[in-house]
Amino acid sequence: MSKVAHYLQEHLVGEVMTGTDARRYFATDNSILQLAPSLVVYPRTENDVRKTARFSWQLAERGRVIPITARGAGTDATGAALGSGIMMVFPAHMNRVLELDTKAHTVTVEPGINYGKLQQTLHTHGRFLPPYPASIEYSTIGGAIANNLSGEKSVKYGATGAYVKGLRVVLANGEVIETGHLNKRDLSKKLGLATFEGEIYRSVDTLLEENRELTSQLIRNVVKNNAGYNLLDIRGKDGSFDLTPLFVGSQGTLGLIAEAVLTTEAHNPQTTLIMAHFDSLEQTQQAIQELLALSEQPSVLELVDQHVLQQVHELNPNQLKEVATPPFAPFTLFIEFDNPNRQVKKLAKKAEKIAEKYGIGFQTATEPEQQLQFWKLRQATSTLISHNDGLQKSVPLVDAAVPLDRLRELIEGAYSILGSVSLKPGLWGHVGEGSLHFQPHLNLGAVGDRQKVFRILEEYHQLVISLGGTISASAGDGRLRTPFLEAMYGAELYVLLQKVKIIFDPYGTLNPGVKFGTSIDDLKALLRSDYGLDHLYDHLPRS
Ligand SMILES: Cc1cc2nc3c(=O)[nH]c(=O)nc-3n(C[C@H](O)[C@H](O)[C@H](O)COP(=O)(O)OP(=O)(O)OC[C@H]3O[C@@H](n4cnc5c(N)ncnc54)[C@H](O)[C@@H]3O)c2cc1C
Repeated sequence: MSKVAHYLQEHLVGEVMTGTDARRYFATDNSILQLAPSLVVYPRTENDVRKTARFSWQLAERGRVIPITARGAGTDATGAALGSGIMMVFPAHMNRVLELDTKAHTVTVEPGINYGKLQQTLHTHGRFLPPYPASIEYSTIGGAIANNLSGEKSVKYGATGAYVKGLRVVLANGEVIETGHLNKRDLSKKLGLATFEGEIYRSVDTLLEENRELTSQLIRNVVKNNAGYNLLDIRGKDGSFDLTPLFVGSQGTLGLIAEAVLTTEAHNPQTTLIMAHFDSLEQTQQAIQELLALSEQPSVLELVDQHVLQQVHELNPNQLKEVATPPFAPFTLFIEFDNPNRQVKKLAKKAEKIAEKYGIGFQTATEPEQQLQFWKLRQATSTLISHNDGLQKSVPLVDAAVPLDRLRELIEGAYSILGSVSLKPGLWGHVGEGSLHFQPHLNLGAVGDRQKVFRILEEYHQLVISLGGTISASAGDGRLRTPFLEAMYGAELYVLLQKVKIIFDPYGTLNPGVKFGTSIDDLKALLRSDYGLDHLYDHLPRS
């Protein structure tokens, strides 16, 4: 055991490990990148987190940087859960529900709690956390907050940030702060503190004051945007102040989340689901825009294209046959309404009219069994991404969103880019939020395929930026999209974001390389030669 590990083990209640197995295990997440930590810490208490941060800060003050990367379940698709220093693994011990307030409808949790388990607990109280991801069965709440995660229901309910009321955060120097809504008086108390916390409040307040006009340029014409930091929701119009939105989506680069208070929504499992087919992209886009203009948003608005269905049909001709057979419609939309009152019938009727006007057929299901059949088509993506074609594996590369009226151009552009590198098309996504996914099958051990990775990354992100979109929609930038962040925002805004990072993390001890400091050449060096999600295979999710 190294001296550092030895020192930490003497001071922490949780375990410290330096063995090759542990380091190898945490050298990968769900991304195409690889980076082994030098040691692994499993904190048992907030005090363990605090002591580790303090230790790392003190070393850095003396010129030796051993950074800390917070880790949930490691399902991040961008290498945000990788780091070369201390890997701080939260799910092992810091995984409890601390308080469930059934009157205020809030829940206080530790960050390592499994998302699916928390959701089950909430369901028993008639509540739920709406922005759950497809990886709900094994990802954590800490990861969801740090990524400002969104999922299939986010079109109606918003991203994770909308449900985070307050956080306990361990700062880079080991101080613990509580975030939440501050009125003017509370804020002035914070501004007067002689601590690192006070320094942070003063610096952020001044930065926002001096850069009002510049900060407003962070606004993008997209439904969701996780690129960079959220500087737009810190200050309220009434002079209030809240650092919570800044930590949400910051991917462990500004502080370590030790506890979170979340608000919940009433859970209504009874839904109406319409599956509608379209033969043209233009008509699909028009239908999407009209559906979103209804008096109430659908609770789900998802798309899957014919190429996904065709490929799944070729892999397993029986899988989809009860729901659809080839030739598949070019685009299929899944439109769900979860409104518990009678209005849902009216909404569904209106949605059916839209499907009829623009599409080539639709079916409506109100019974869970029939709905499950419909979902088989959307969940076909899961089959596709878990299928290995020899050494070729389905790799996550992109997570962009564009303004809704540019969706058609994004889809056409994605087809064209995949075609130009001779890869099979196959698209799906949360189209109600202008967000699209594809995961081409590539052999990362082959030079040609490695080159394709970078061609796709560069061309697709250029396209997204040219359409006025965001390179990071459902989750954060991580390492994979860091090289494109400056191109998205421009040099001046990028420098502003860097200043935020420096306020919170002056020595670069918090997840360095994420959001800043990773170039395309760095990515090339970090690229795995064999992609796999071995540790998650037992729980392959719906997608
Ligand atoms: C099959 C599959 C389906 C997926 N579906 C979706 C989806 O629908 N929507 C979507 O957005 N994503 C999806 N993802 C990506 C991934 O599941 C999410 O990004 C998830 O939020 C990551 O959670 P995690 O617990 O695995 O966190 P990790 O991957 O371990 O970490 C994610 C980030 O959070 C930070 N972090 C973790 N804990 C803390 C903490 N306590 N304090 C500070 N920072 C912390 C990490 O440093 C890292 O930057 C999917 C992934 C897979 C494999």
